[in-house]
Amino acid sequence: MSRTDITIIGAGVVGLAIAYSISDLGLDVTIIDKHDSFGREASSRNSEVIHASIYYPQNSLKGRLCLEGNKLMYRLCKDYCIPYSNCGKLIVANNKDECNQLNGILENAIDNGAHGVRIVNKIEIFEIEPNVHADSAIFCPSSGIVDSHKLMEFFEQYSKSKNVNFVYNHEVKELSFDNKDYRIIVKDKESNEFQLTSKIIINSAGLMSGRIAELLGIDIDKHNYRINYHKGIYFRVNRNLDKYPKALIYPLPPESGSVGIHTTPDLYGGMRLGPHFFWSDEIDYSVDNTFLKYFFGSAVRYLPFLDIEDLKPDMAGIMSSIQKEGEMMKDFVIREESDKGFPGLINLIGMESPALTASPAIGEYVKEIVMNLIRRLR
Ligand SMILES: Cc1cc2nc3c(=O)[nH]c(=O)nc-3n(C[C@H](O)[C@H](O)[C@H](O)COP(=O)(O)OP(=O)(O)OC[C@H]3O[C@@H](n4cnc5c(N)ncnc54)[C@H](O)[C@@H]3O)c2cc1C
Repeated sequence: MSRTDITIIGAGVVGLAIAYSISDLGLDVTIIDKHDSFGREASSRNSEVIHASIYYPQNSLKGRLCLEGNKLMYRLCKDYCIPYSNCGKLIVANNKDECNQLNGILENAIDNGAHGVRIVNKIEIFEIEPNVHADSAIFCPSSGIVDSHKLMEFFEQYSKSKNVNFVYNHEVKELSFDNKDYRIIVKDKESNEFQLTSKIIINSAGLMSGRIAELLGIDIDKHNYRINYHKGIYFRVNRNLDKYPKALIYPLPPESGSVGIHTTPDLYGGMRLGPHFFWSDEIDYSVDNTFLKYFFGSAVRYLPFLDIEDLKPDMAGIMSSIQKEGEMMKDFVIREESDKGFPGLINLIGMESPALTASPAIGEYVKEIVMNLIRRLR
């Protein structure tokens, strides 16, 4: 049986950012993922938007970590040559009622500290994006996009250079705690079983994070840790690409938990529309033409040159949400679980959007928790 100080379960962008942040503490760190490489789930199936912290409730972890993450992300991208674009974002309004709604969104964004947000009129919109139709809009200069694969690759390579031990192709199957150490049983693809013990467990298992907490006997319904699957689908645009906006174009948010079907330029010349979110009972990444008319109808309001033939089904991702269908958005849960009888267990539950943007700040936040724990457990 091998021993380690810290075990991170899940090498998505959240687990990797934590590995990066704690890699300089001089501790033995192991990160385990069931896939053969990093970021094979939500972290590689998203819009890659660097959010500005517009919508999140005041004083929420989402709002705070998004804002900090936005700043840290641009710094990391510049310092380590991770491809990104600080392309800005327009949230567009196309009638009187929508224009009135912009004020409330702007107020929240300013209270959240989103940098430089302001309302722009039709003339300014034309100057920023001549092919976009809108009567008025909020311009967010600090929004952008990042190559999420390159970001994760950077986190992985940096952490490896600091001796973080990466264990791919191994799934955590059992967990127990003997009041001193955690015992972790993992299985490889051939069902061979291995065990390790760890002082600290960091649960960043995304869609399975509720299940990991449950393996230790935590009542995930009582604590609202049960993960619900919120599937987001995209269509790719494959014609008239020269007319597409360079900035991100968002409609007003149509429903709770969604930011609406927006444009996402993908850094390498492609263009996607999406995501459209709906609740799902299974992990299924298929996308077909069912929502073609819905996508076209949503996007043609602000991209009048769009033809329905321009759209082709693309990809899907699934968010780990702790809110259920019809409930308001819930905050990230990032907590050390001593009060549940599990000192040294750090759960990260409900790490949906904006966790990609927030990832560098989440890493720093968890590092603080780890440093406090080390002092306490010594
Ligand atoms: C459609 C969509 C669009 C989004 N758009 C944006 C955006 O534009 N901007 C933004 O900031 N955020 C966005 N997000 C959110 C962002 O992508 C996620 O919040 C983020 O990727 C979550 O990272 P994670 O590491 O927590 O989860 P994941 O990437 O899902 O990683 C979890 C890892 O845990 C591993 N794992 C699970 N169980 C086990 C086990 N038992 N043993 C070993 N390993 C295990 C999995 O293999 C996986 O690699 C979007 C998400 C979706 C779905």
